[in-house]
Amino acid sequence: MILPHEHVFVDLRTWDQPGYAQAEPADVIALMAPEIARARAVGISAIVECSPVGVGRRADILKAVSEATDFPLVVPTGIYREPWVPDWAHEASEEKLRDWMQGELATEIEATGVQAGWVKLSAGDDGLTDCEAKILRAAAAAGAATNAVIGSHTIRGRVVRDQLDVVEEAGYTPERFIWIHTQAEPDFELHLEIAQRGAWIEYDGIGGEEETDEDYVQCILRVLEAGLGHRLMLSHDRGWYDPTQPGGGTPRPFTYINEQFLPQLQAAGVDEATIRQLTHTNPFRAFAR
Ligand SMILES: [Zn+2]
Repeated sequence: MILPHEHVFVDLRTWDQPGYAQAEPADVIALMAPEIARARAVGISAIVECSPVGVGRRADILKAVSEATDFPLVVPTGIYREPWVPDWAHEASEEKLRDWMQGELATEIEATGVQAGWVKLSAGDDGLTDCEAKILRAAAAAGAATNAVIGSHTIRGRVVRDQLDVVEEAGYTPERFIWIHTQAEPDFELHLEIAQRGAWIEYDGIGGEEETDEDYVQCILRVLEAGLGHRLMLSHDRGWYDPTQPGGGTPRPFTYINEQFLPQLQAAGVDEATIRQLTHTNPFRAFAR
């Protein structure tokens, strides 16, 4: 079972803040290794880390955690939305950004020995800025060259429509695009529209404060009724070591879906094979290259 959207280490401040993205790997291991052990104990076999450049990506720390726990963490290339985009990326040409992402996907991130597994980016709620569109076009070109999936934190479905247009114009395909945080879009018809267009949709705040378990169960049932269960993934968006908090703060466990949510989905009539598709097959297919 793969959790396609979680965090082990994030800094949500912007890159120009003192102490940004700083932590001792040993401290992150001390805080997060027990959470990874709990995840493993309930049957999770890999976690996709969703922190790109802009929100404190530290591939070296993630590698240390992965090695200390003997547990796979999948790390992205890519850049978060404005105002988290660093100066160098504002200034970089589209080709330079493409070469940077393609290099991380094909070789390694920052001489860590960690190969990027996918591309994570984002877009503003009112539409793509010029810089976000540049990053997305570069990501689509890097994706087309490596078959990496592109995941975007996008709150509005109509912005996803624009993003899929950009991806197609750049020569890539909606089938290699994940709409992260689909649940935040109140117009459910857009969930179906984007999935029908071939993209992945992701209900990834399960166990969070915004939506109830019942909200998620109802959305999942409607996606399944529409015959789109093969385009849906589930996750918590939980964790993580936060360098702004003493000792990294208090992480939230990666076990809510297994321990609390899936039994409710079963009680609502979703069979074992479908649950396996949502939690095993779909994330494997989405992230496999
Ligand atoms: Zn997240």
